[in-house]
Amino acid sequence: MFNLVDPRIVALLEHRKAARASGVGQGLLGASEDADKLLRSDSMAMLTGLVLQRGMPAERVWQIPMHLRSKIGHLDPARIAQMSVEDMTTTFDSLEVRPRYPAQAAKTVVALAELVTKTFGGDGSSIWRGREVPDVIATLESLPWVGPGISHMAVQLLMDESGYAPHPSELSSLDVKADVHVVRVFYRLGIADAETRDAAVHAARHYHPEFPGLLDWPAWDVGRRFCRPKSPVCGECPLSDVCNKRDLEVKKRDTAQPIEMPVAKLQTGTGSD
Ligand code: SF4
Repeated sequence: MFNLVDPRIVALLEHRKAARASGVGQGLLGASEDADKLLRSDSMAMLTGLVLQRGMPAERVWQIPMHLRSKIGHLDPARIAQMSVEDMTTTFDSLEVRPRYPAQAAKTVVALAELVTKTFGGDGSSIWRGREVPDVIATLESLPWVGPGISHMAVQLLMDESGYAPHPSELSSLDVKADVHVVRVFYRLGIADAETRDAAVHAARHYHPEFPGLLDWPAWDVGRRFCRPKSPVCGECPLSDVCNKRDLEVKKRDTAQPIEMPVAKLQTGTGSD
């Protein structure tokens, strides 16, 4: 059985597969073994790192749970839920690695602790374990300052890093986060008709409806390593053969010709693919 897929989508999926097989994106989340050990062993640490993914590089956000625990001596959701937002803001302000917006982050994390304590019996992993994707997304988005971008990315990270395994039929509801890298690459590649978040989300849904979010990581990786805002290194870019704006000159090319690929090859995968 075959399915017609745009060559630009094929290139993105191939880049994801090749890069992750070679270890890119499989390393430490938090730029240190101590930070990673905590993230992978403590669901409250993982959730805190996930819901604070905004306004600063991901690897720095992943270090915040470790510094928070070092400062207050625990990551016990019941005890954090007892803290005032003001106290948590002061705590965040004092950390070696602190959130870009400490007051917003404090509100998010105290609300997360209350949610875990009151609704999930104190076990943060119950937010995702055995639950369907739309329910996990709705739970995360019930937190202040957590919108669709963070919640959809969080679900994919839980799949990659924490063993969350939703049914494949649920993956069609997972969008790209569409940060600046994804928005830029989708636009330059030519699959988004504008350099906006909405256009990127729409493009992923249109070109890879069975799992739009799977296009997030490869575009993000290309954006941060090759497709820089002012000086893209098209000659080294894994998408250069199919990119509409290679060398920032729009090729005089009509629509890309579809490529026949076995459906099995297009199936979704997580960190193992
Ligand atoms: S070929 Fe150039 S413009 Fe296109 S995605 Fe790669 S770096 Fe960006």
